[in-house]
Amino acid sequence: MTTTVNSASVRAQTPFINAPLTDFSHEANRQAQVAALQQVKSELGQTYPLIIGGKKIMSAHTFASLNPSQPDQIIGHFARASVEQAEEAMQAAAQAFETWKRVPAQERAHYLFAAAELLRQRRFLMNAWMIYEVGKSWVEADADTAEAIDFMEFYAREMLRLAEKQPVVQIEGEDNELVYIPLGVGAVIPPWNFPCAIMVGMTSASFVTGNTVVLKPASTSPAIAAQFMHILEEVGLPAGVVNFLTGSGSIIGDVLVESPQTRFIAFTGSRDVGLRINELAARPQKGQIWIKRTILEMGGKDAIVVDETADLDAAATGIVTSAFGFQGQKCSAGSRAIIVESVYDQVVQKVVAKAKQLTMGDVTLPTTYMGPVVDASAQKKISEYIEIGKSEGSLLLGGKHHEPGYFIEPTIIGDVNAHARIAQEEIFGPVLAIIKAQDFDDALQIANSTEYGLTGALFSRDEQRIERARAEFHVGNLYFNRKCTGAFVGAQPFGGFNMSGTDSKAGGRDYLLLFTQAKSITTKR
Ligand code: NAP
Ligand code: MG
Repeated sequence: MTTTVNSASVRAQTPFINAPLTDFSHEANRQAQVAALQQVKSELGQTYPLIIGGKKIMSAHTFASLNPSQPDQIIGHFARASVEQAEEAMQAAAQAFETWKRVPAQERAHYLFAAAELLRQRRFLMNAWMIYEVGKSWVEADADTAEAIDFMEFYAREMLRLAEKQPVVQIEGEDNELVYIPLGVGAVIPPWNFPCAIMVGMTSASFVTGNTVVLKPASTSPAIAAQFMHILEEVGLPAGVVNFLTGSGSIIGDVLVESPQTRFIAFTGSRDVGLRINELAARPQKGQIWIKRTILEMGGKDAIVVDETADLDAAATGIVTSAFGFQGQKCSAGSRAIIVESVYDQVVQKVVAKAKQLTMGDVTLPTTYMGPVVDASAQKKISEYIEIGKSEGSLLLGGKHHEPGYFIEPTIIGDVNAHARIAQEEIFGPVLAIIKAQDFDDALQIANSTEYGLTGALFSRDEQRIERARAEFHVGNLYFNRKCTGAFVGAQPFGGFNMSGTDSKAGGRDYLLLFTQAKSITTKR
């Protein structure tokens, strides 16, 4: 650890900058990605253990993670943890907490700097795991890995900042200080759609602040989490600080949430599961002596508003990228385009023309823009929404699915009523609902008319309207004249309002505070 600690100390002195995205127009980068895809292909199909208190535990009961582009290709076999094993994992985390909470913040941060460095070295490999396991395109996978690196670099520095002397008022005759201490044992429950970034972000925020966790990855992306566990092991993170528990969320999820040892739950995923966690966590269990904290980031029904003053080409590009990047499977996806009447036909025509150009297919090729949706049930659910959409509006593009693999064409449905189901419910696939507004006021009102409030964008050149939207467009992440996806760590702290979650602003200066409690200490002189 000494050498990594030393090099990490040097890193800590430098300001945070976002990891640059890989330029795949460079032949060397393309070759590196192809080589990594080859290497990962040769590693597919292995069996992965649970990791509890540093012990690797094989299970007789396993489930397979599949390649959604080619479902007969098995990415890996994973232990299906039992309720007892979930309890053991909580116990191991509780035990490790007793020592980990005393490890100085600087040392904890240095594990993250070291892990970030290893992930930088393995960037193309991590991209390849995502290309195979969840069907990301090269560019989407690379941005996901970059974001994971950013989270670690950012949270490590944030921890160092929180460990500094905090400003409090000094009162005559007393010394006053305030320190941030960890909460305890956390359950970390990430989604599969940013299988590297969000999983790494929630886990690293938890442990850098001195907590220990049970990490339960999404069942469609456990191999990616297993790669991160390798990294944590290699940087020498002590056993039990992060325990790795694969298995069905509907079976072991409740155990992790309800355990009296759980102090907090960091969850990112769907609205319904988030609300269930919130409810279960609120009930004190026998022996529990704290109120559980929940950090919940949930769904979205994000809108892009276009008015008649906008650059219509830029707006159409923003709409298409936001709607169809990673097959629309982003909480930030622009699944509604709200366009004022006077430019409606023009914008729709441009959007459809641009969406027609998108390539769909083999994501192991750098030229492919869209891959499959994540699994059979996603394909079924999205297809059902497309059928609903056909009765709620007019199908302008796509609508079909393709096998083998869980492919769904980029689908655009026009003339959708603002209250239609496809304009209100999160579909989480490549389906764009286009809504006609009478004017800007009407458009803004429609934008705010769902129960969500995650991201939103306005394309306009009218300064007064931009000012109004700044105040009235009720979303956690608001963008003007650009797409509504692709927030950068540090620059655009991410999290939404209303049913989109607890607005926990991942990648922002407030985030680590959610994983700590503040202790005020006064000494009488
Ligand atoms: P999901 O079905 O809610 O699953 C998320 C995680 O919860 C998975 O690890 C899942 O495990 C687990 N889980 C399922 N049932 C559970 C239960 N009863 N108790 C505890 N955990 C349980 O969501 P998803 O399909 O993975 O992800 C898509 C959703 O995430 C979308 O709604 C999207 O908008 C949202 N999202 C939000 C943000 C944000 O920042 N606001 C970011 C990304 C994604 P299994 O896989 O084993 O079921
Ligand atoms: Mg799911």
